[in-house]
Amino acid sequence: MGRFDACHRESASHTSNAPWRGIAVSCCISMDYRRACHVDGFRFYLRSYLRPQHLHCLQRMNAPNPNSDTIAAISTPPGRGGIGIVRLSGPQAASIAVQLVRLRHPLEHARARLADVADDGAAGETGRIDEAVVTLFAAPNSYTSEDLVEIAAHGSPVVLELLLGRALGFGARLAEPGEFTQRAYLSGKLDLTQAEAVRDLIAAQTLTQARLAASQMGGALSRRVEPVKTALIELVALLEAGIDFAEDDIDVTPQAEIARCIGELMLPLAALEASFARGHIVHDGLTLAIVGRPNAGKSSLFNCLVQRDRAIVTATPGTTRDTVAERISLDGIPLELVDTAGLREAAEEVEQLGIARSREAMADAALVIVVLDATEPLNDEERRLLAAVENRPAVVVVNKSDLVETGRSLPDCGSLPVLATSALTGEGIHELRERILLLATGGAAAEPGMLTSLRHQQAVAAALAALADATESNASSIPHEMILLDLYRALTALDSLTGQTTPDDILNLIFSTFCIGK
Ligand code: GDP
Repeated sequence: MGRFDACHRESASHTSNAPWRGIAVSCCISMDYRRACHVDGFRFYLRSYLRPQHLHCLQRMNAPNPNSDTIAAISTPPGRGGIGIVRLSGPQAASIAVQLVRLRHPLEHARARLADVADDGAAGETGRIDEAVVTLFAAPNSYTSEDLVEIAAHGSPVVLELLLGRALGFGARLAEPGEFTQRAYLSGKLDLTQAEAVRDLIAAQTLTQARLAASQMGGALSRRVEPVKTALIELVALLEAGIDFAEDDIDVTPQAEIARCIGELMLPLAALEASFARGHIVHDGLTLAIVGRPNAGKSSLFNCLVQRDRAIVTATPGTTRDTVAERISLDGIPLELVDTAGLREAAEEVEQLGIARSREAMADAALVIVVLDATEPLNDEERRLLAAVENRPAVVVVNKSDLVETGRSLPDCGSLPVLATSALTGEGIHELRERILLLATGGAAAEPGMLTSLRHQQAVAAALAALADATESNASSIPHEMILLDLYRALTALDSLTGQTTPDDILNLIFSTFCIGK
């Protein structure tokens, strides 16, 4: 009892200097603490959880509040538009906003207010240059948890620059990229995976990407990780209790029980890591190169897949001289299709250059479609091509199937899948799409809370590696202190995923990839 109280006081004193940031830490600890109460030895949970690596987190949270300044930025894209928004966040957001514009009514939380934007340089006091709608979101009920003001004027860069310049003149500081979201994260409003999802939503190019980002913004990934983390903390508390009370009545947890608990932690984490196979391609997309001899029907197949006449189709071989690229969405996966110049011994210099580009496109692509002509026997160039893609994710398409008798056997291409298609009749195109999807995803289905970024995958992989070490330590009957070291490593890795123990330099790197004004 004494020890827990001391620890609780310790954590309270850590948080007392920075009220709002401290609250976030206290809440996260007390929520975890409530869960840990279910296990023996709960009194020591906090002491054991607050290891040096976690104190780092507290220190970061308790550093002098850097957000005493007010930031400002133009939050709409550069250029002209119907409306443009200047955003301010921080303690002086409202007081600066009232000096920027002539409000017709006082600011009130979440109420839009009409205002005039005055032209300082104009003679007389009526020199109105624009009309704006000003909305205050008062702390803590705003995106950043601070006072936040949005001034929506007409989307004239001149007016927006004027407003921003004036805001800076009244004491605001120009916001860094992603700084509004960084403040939301630091206030505990979003965890790191949710903050990253805001950036992904803005960058989304397909509806599936937007949906994935939106579900992560809603905490889908954090919800998948949270139960594992809770169970891990419970196991840590159990082992710590056994160590602290070795001389008391607390039973030492049997080896088999520890192995079972670790195994149960690894299962959902392994499934989460496996979701990266699909998650990362939905997030990043893939490039697919269509290669083959001239006139095999590459451009025709390319047009079938992009569902419009994008590439020029002619009966004259060697007319595609350069690569043509088009982005499509295949079951939500962004695919960049690249149509290439036909591969053959070319006489002309321009065709030779095109062929060199084809080879480069093939080398760069994640997936390859090799197009053969059903009416022609395999030539040496095609044999070399098939050998070059043998161990890569590739599919062989025998095109112009409409020109040969049905049921004709397809060439043996070793381990590569072979399909018959006709770009003319559409035969086999559906199967080709399915095959591309299979190659792209490796058969992994879409699921909620998929891992989409390498940072997330590496955090989960690190947690899994630490748990594998814990399993090994447990199997070799070494003291529980050593198993605990591995378990704490796993905990730190999971914490870094949601941002509870992410070092500042990594945080700065993440937020620097955001756009200004978000
Ligand atoms: P590429 O040089 O490999 O890009 O081939 P193209 O797509 O330009 O096609 C060459 C010629 O073959 C054109 O006259 C096309 O209309 C024709 N072609 C392409 N695919 C098919 C097909 O599946 N069936 C038939 N009958 N003709 C095709």
